[in-house]
Amino acid sequence: MNDEARRQELRIWRFGLATVTFAIWVGFILYINALGLFRLEFGAFTFPVAALVGGMVVSNMLFFTAFKTGVNLRFHDPSMTLPMMLTALLWACLTAGGLPEMRAVSFPAFIIVFMFGIFTLRISHYVLCWLFSMAGYTLVVATTIPDDAGNARIQLEIMHAALLAAMLIWVAYFGHYVGRLREKLHSRNSELQQALALVEELAVRDDLTGLHNRRFVMDALKREQQRSDRHGDALSLLVLDIDRFKEINDQHGHPVGDEVLKSFVTRLSQAVRGADVVGATGVAPDVPDTIGRFGGEEFIVILPHTDTAGAQRVAERIRVATSATPFGTSAGPVSVTVSLGVARHQEGETPRSILERVDSALYAAKHGGRNRTAIASGDRDGTPMLHVAES
Ligand code: GH3
Ligand code: MG
Ligand code: MG
Repeated sequence: MNDEARRQELRIWRFGLATVTFAIWVGFILYINALGLFRLEFGAFTFPVAALVGGMVVSNMLFFTAFKTGVNLRFHDPSMTLPMMLTALLWACLTAGGLPEMRAVSFPAFIIVFMFGIFTLRISHYVLCWLFSMAGYTLVVATTIPDDAGNARIQLEIMHAALLAAMLIWVAYFGHYVGRLREKLHSRNSELQQALALVEELAVRDDLTGLHNRRFVMDALKREQQRSDRHGDALSLLVLDIDRFKEINDQHGHPVGDEVLKSFVTRLSQAVRGADVVGATGVAPDVPDTIGRFGGEEFIVILPHTDTAGAQRVAERIRVATSATPFGTSAGPVSVTVSLGVARHQEGETPRSILERVDSALYAAKHGGRNRTAIASGDRDGTPMLHVAES
């Protein structure tokens, strides 16, 4: 489920909460009405309770339809909090109007509506809701109060209105405060998520070269081996070790050694991902090769959909690209060669076994005189025994 779908689900959940509140509210009005205590009289005109309850139900259904059809997504605020609150406040004002002897009983309705503002409301919206509530309440009370109301009654109404005004200011402030906390929590959460993603990325990357590290490559190897076993696709592995790298360090210093490592990685990446490598080895374009730094001056390349002959071609390409021209460094040009071991994954073989085989191939390449590629023993494809390609 994508983010927008999740947000829409949350909005519908919130709407469900509002609907339950409305249901309780309607039940309450009907109960008071059954007791004969609900009277919404504007002068000689009696506003029928059925019209009030009907209005509440219909408005709720309209909002529900908007959410269900996705019409709400066209609005600036898809949660439609402000229109829903203003509508509910209208019903709250009429409820207050219908309870002439006990206005305060309607106040929880105002408070609960204001509470919903926590979800998205800005302070300006709270001010608007407060003004709307007070104007609506005063208007409804003023038009429903009997003409012969005495001073004591009017004072009581003013006291009630003042109480409602003060309460709603408090709730608006509190709602705004909690809303801000919610927002802060939200942005902290997404900051944490970003930090976590960065840490996860750093955990599988090598600092110096930016290549994937041993941990990542080992996981990738396990995955590729399982895939190869499942689908019967070819899978090959290269292990590379720069020749006499210690001498480069000793001769030019560690920082120059680092420069060589970085430049080597550039050549390695180009040699592995070149277009004709894909053609030559039969690598499916959607299954990328994985290059990793195995440690020190040792690297590994996983070649999915590649047989021994294809892997050997890639290895030779890397070897030639390395030795063809010296590496430009701050200490001047440095000649570098690399030795490589190649192994093709045998069906059901463990990562440990293929690594042992490819390591012994690398060992053979070193002992064969370096600057060469050796094929691991046990590989099929007509090269069953250890074979060292002459440079
Ligand atoms: P061989 O041909 O047998 O592989 O010889 P070698 O000198 O390359 O092999 P050895 O394992 O003796 O030396 C590897 C050197 O690589 C030793 C180590 O200090 C150096 N090294 C390992 N990691 C780094 C690094 O990140 N930066 C630099 N500059 N040198 C490194
Ligand atoms: Mg070495
Ligand atoms: Mg080494």
